[in-house]
Amino acid sequence: MGYFDGRTALITGSGSGIGRATARIMAERGANVIVHDLNRAGAEETAELVRKAGRKASVAICDVSDIAAMRNAVAEGEKQFGAIDILVNNAGVPSDRCPLEEVTEEMFERSMRVHVKGTLFTTQAVVPGMKRRMAGKIVNISSIQGTVGYANGATYNGAKAAVLAMAKGWAKELAPWKINVNIVAPGHCLTPMPMSKDSPETIAKKAEGIPFKRYAQPEEMGYAIAYLCSPEADFVTGQVISPNGGYTII
Ligand code: NAP
Repeated sequence: MGYFDGRTALITGSGSGIGRATARIMAERGANVIVHDLNRAGAEETAELVRKAGRKASVAICDVSDIAAMRNAVAEGEKQFGAIDILVNNAGVPSDRCPLEEVTEEMFERSMRVHVKGTLFTTQAVVPGMKRRMAGKIVNISSIQGTVGYANGATYNGAKAAVLAMAKGWAKELAPWKINVNIVAPGHCLTPMPMSKDSPETIAKKAEGIPFKRYAQPEEMGYAIAYLCSPEADFVTGQVISPNGGYTII
């Protein structure tokens, strides 16, 4: 039993990393989960974790930026579970990591398509149901790159800042319907995203620059996301929580 009993969460990109940890934590606190991802094997594994926690899971496989497919996934989820009470806009692709002069239109379009277009139109599909019920919790996953910026990360910085700013506007726009919209801006977190780009030695070196001298575990993001989706955060909207081991205070 938990404070998500009877609630259903749609978590995009939850076949891996932060999305998977969030799905498991929410299921342990009572939520049914619509596990969305591009990667079927990963999504099925997450769905199994939700079921092991005693909750219902369904799997939706499509590109988050395919508007028609996401509208379909939302409609299917609402049909199956009766409602989508919680939306976590989490699906993401890594930063391009190159100097400004080397950024291509292709890099720009990929980052904007997945992070900005995906977040905007998935939210657009979920909000009408939340408005009808006069309740809902939405969390956009930004990044410290969207709050303080990184050198050599132009498209990701821009996309993650947009994801953050969209959530702030929606928080104001959707407040009359008692829909909370907040932001989690993760710092360095040990998921396949950084691990596919950096060697263990590079990760250890980067960790030295974090006051806590380590990367986060995905669960440490999941707890912040779950809090913002819980009744404990009913009066919290338009806010950013950035679990980052102190990185942005230096
Ligand atoms: P992850 O383990 O790579 O998980 C991201 C998931 O999103 C993957 O399963 C990926 O599928 C899926 N995905 C990518 N593009 C998609 C698309 N177009 N449609 C549907 N699903 C898609 O990475 P993570 O670290 O958990 O990242 C989760 C979120 O946190 C992202 O928004 C990321 O930008 C943000 N973040 C992460 C960190 C960090 O240090 N890890 C820091 C700041 C912010 P595939 O595996 O098939 O690509």
